[in-house]
Amino acid sequence: MDSNEIRKKFLFFFKEHSHNIVDSSPLIPQGDPSLLFTSAGMVQFKPYYLGLKKDMKRATSCQKCFRTSDIDNVGKTIRHLTFFEMLGNFSFGDYFKEESLKWGYDFLTKEMQINPERLYFSIYKGGIAPKDEEALSIWKKILPQNLHSHIFEMGEDNFWSMGETGPSGPCSEIYYDRGEQFDHKGCKGPSCGCDRYIEIWNHVFTQFDRQIDGSFKNLPTKNIDTGMGLERLTFIIENRFSPFETSLFYPIIDKFISNHSSQVNDKIKLSLELIKKHHDSPQDFKKNIIDSDAFQIIPNLRIIADHLRGAAFLISAGVIPSNEGRGYVLRRLIRRAERFGMILGVKEAFLHELIDSLDPIFSNVYPELSKNKAHIKSVLLFEEEGFIKTLENGEKYMNSLVKNSSGSISGQEAFKLYETYGFPLELIKEIANKNGIAVDEKEFNKAKNQAQEISRSGWKSSGEINTFIFQKAEGQLPPTIFTGYDRYEDKSKLIAILDENGNMLNTSQKGRSWLVFEKTPFYAESGGQVADTGEIYLGEEKIGEIIDAQKPIGKVFYHLSEIQKTITVGMEFNLKIDKIKRIKTAANHTAIHLINSALKKILGENTRQAGSFVNHEKFRFDYTINRTPTLDELKKIEEIANNAIKEEYKVYKELRALSDAEKLGATILLGEKYSDPARFVLINKEGFKNPKDRYSLELCGGTHVDDLKDVFYVKIIKDSSVSRGIRRIEGISGYSLIEYMESKNKILDILSEELTLPYEEIPNKISHLKEEIKNLKEEIKNIQTKKMDNLQKEEIPVKNYKIIFQKINSSDIKIMRGLSDNLRNENKNSIIFVYSINEGKVNFTIGLSNDIKNSDTDASIIAKKLSSSLNIKAGGRKDFAQGGGIFNLCENNLKEKFLDILK
Ligand SMILES: [Zn+2]
Ligand SMILES: [Zn+2]
Repeated sequence: MDSNEIRKKFLFFFKEHSHNIVDSSPLIPQGDPSLLFTSAGMVQFKPYYLGLKKDMKRATSCQKCFRTSDIDNVGKTIRHLTFFEMLGNFSFGDYFKEESLKWGYDFLTKEMQINPERLYFSIYKGGIAPKDEEALSIWKKILPQNLHSHIFEMGEDNFWSMGETGPSGPCSEIYYDRGEQFDHKGCKGPSCGCDRYIEIWNHVFTQFDRQIDGSFKNLPTKNIDTGMGLERLTFIIENRFSPFETSLFYPIIDKFISNHSSQVNDKIKLSLELIKKHHDSPQDFKKNIIDSDAFQIIPNLRIIADHLRGAAFLISAGVIPSNEGRGYVLRRLIRRAERFGMILGVKEAFLHELIDSLDPIFSNVYPELSKNKAHIKSVLLFEEEGFIKTLENGEKYMNSLVKNSSGSISGQEAFKLYETYGFPLELIKEIANKNGIAVDEKEFNKAKNQAQEISRSGWKSSGEINTFIFQKAEGQLPPTIFTGYDRYEDKSKLIAILDENGNMLNTSQKGRSWLVFEKTPFYAESGGQVADTGEIYLGEEKIGEIIDAQKPIGKVFYHLSEIQKTITVGMEFNLKIDKIKRIKTAANHTAIHLINSALKKILGENTRQAGSFVNHEKFRFDYTINRTPTLDELKKIEEIANNAIKEEYKVYKELRALSDAEKLGATILLGEKYSDPARFVLINKEGFKNPKDRYSLELCGGTHVDDLKDVFYVKIIKDSSVSRGIRRIEGISGYSLIEYMESKNKILDILSEELTLPYEEIPNKISHLKEEIKNLKEEIKNIQTKKMDNLQKEEIPVKNYKIIFQKINSSDIKIMRGLSDNLRNENKNSIIFVYSINEGKVNFTIGLSNDIKNSDTDASIIAKKLSSSLNIKAGGRKDFAQGGGIFNLCENNLKEKFLDILK
């Protein structure tokens, strides 16, 4: 039985017990910017636990999860993983402990055929809440007499609560005993936390409502939430040493071994071969790998396998490597894996070549992974290559640190190596040790913690709207009906008023508040399109303005309004959006679809939308690409988009089953969760009668024009880099393009007036003017130099040299340098000192005449000596140096000091 079968059997088992099989929710939580990743199976069922949704009472799922807290521990243990799958069964006020535990036991012993004698069962022994006698008596009923001794008590580890108050309850965990060969000195039994006893399944019984005074009230409806890591169950069922040798990870390691064992040194090669040979027997693996030299490379392989899985799922969910938030987590995964491969002796980018090994593991369950394979591969390769380059630079930086250090590398410098160049601390220490210098670890950790604080708080502030304040209202209000696809105004009943803290009011005086209406023509900001703004009317009378509209959680639209009158829930209003703004915005949104499609045609199907922004003035379209597109390519993209307009295509919108997206090959955004049915936006001639014959088809909730004629023309204004691997096209279309052109025209008008020339002659005139300015500048320079030549210079012989003093009035270093150059060319065996004294400041240059520039005399040394005696700054080369600074002596002092140095 492999992992695919285990997953299937689990879901099927609970389906047989009347559970709905619910698909895994996306790895990136929807509508909750405060959560980086989905980290447990129950997350998507929160509305059921809160009683907000009631359409099912039992559910089961296999949830994709990602935990960032364990990244640094991956590889060190057999437990820690970043990406994992969580099997679970859930009851929302339906069945409780007895069924859940019984099914748990049955599934493990009958479906999975685990020997019951290997299993242990924990119950909560009591502490802050009473002992779980109920679970104890249920286990005694389920288990045969001889296994009653396998029930044991645990403390607060077996009590779950959401916070200081609110839902909470005891848990019961099922453990698996791997047998004596995994025993160790001082083992404390099932609760030991060692490699012998493995916790496989946690059943949480949410039965209490914890009060402020610490007492517990019974909840009116009790819930079940269980979680079993697929990876743990699989390594027990497949009988392997750890999850990393199972069908969930080993294919990756196996591919790594076959790709690279010929490149690594003999010792590592031998270890890799041993791992391959013994991976399918836990006893052999322990004896030949864990208790031997080969153990050294085990963490590397675990990290590569774990991080590759994690990275692939994150990329597939739409994450792109970057320096903040989710992108930063992804970047760390790729760089860590790369680094640990390089330590083994792999020299080039290798992760992207392991992607095929994910097919047998996941293609049955998560088809998106195979579908996005080309994209995942190119993102990986690009980040890997970038990292290798950074590493090379880092090595140079490290070497310079070692060379210039006075016995130690500061924590700040070490952190820079870690943060910017991706050097792990161990590596920094290793290199430093070799060179006999120390690393300030304490300061390093301080810098690291500080950076983490910053990146954490940076994440929190990135969502501008605090969704938290809407949470309460969202649960109590019906979904808002959006009528703005076909109307610019609508009559609607006011159903809620929220103040700035989310408190629901019945009446509101003049001022700012969030208003919720039964239905609304106002588009709430989403999918990169800004919100509509507009006005509120009571009958014929305008009573306020709507300055923003948001749907932070997804269901209810909140209108940020500025009201001049007292209003009350239940009143009916006329809502009017700013029509002109909307029409301009719609043209720009449709233009994005035109560009998106054209882009794929010219730059390849692999380029993907990485973000977008559209308002009434312009659009921005971010896309993934590993190079800079040529001007010619951008022209072609623009041309294709505008040809669609010439072809008089129309824009059709239709709600269709989400499954049609795949059938019709619609463009969807990675990581976006679409509703079902979803809105399809089609650009073609015949509409949905013939959707295959088309210019573009995208899933999109935005507002669009009906006819491409209303886009007029699409103009790309700019293409620039956003970050490594992501570029941004900025453009304009529709009415806003006309306005944009108007404003450019105005500039032309001004120019033409200033120059008293018609438009056509302006470019010619400007090149003439430029030429003229250049000639004039040249002339001025000549005059200046000539003037200088006539300046009085003073010549004094010192030792073998002629010292030439030249004072000038200008302190412009360019002029001084020009003058010095002239003198250096014209004189022989001379040291030329050009200086100026102005407003308490001195500036000077020291130059050697060309015939002695290779002699032992060094202008920069002379300059440094002079400047230190004057307490000012100087620097330069052997044949020319310059300096300057505050100066309050007289001219003769300066010359004397200069001569003193030479004597
Ligand atoms: Zn133990
Ligand atoms: Zn769109």
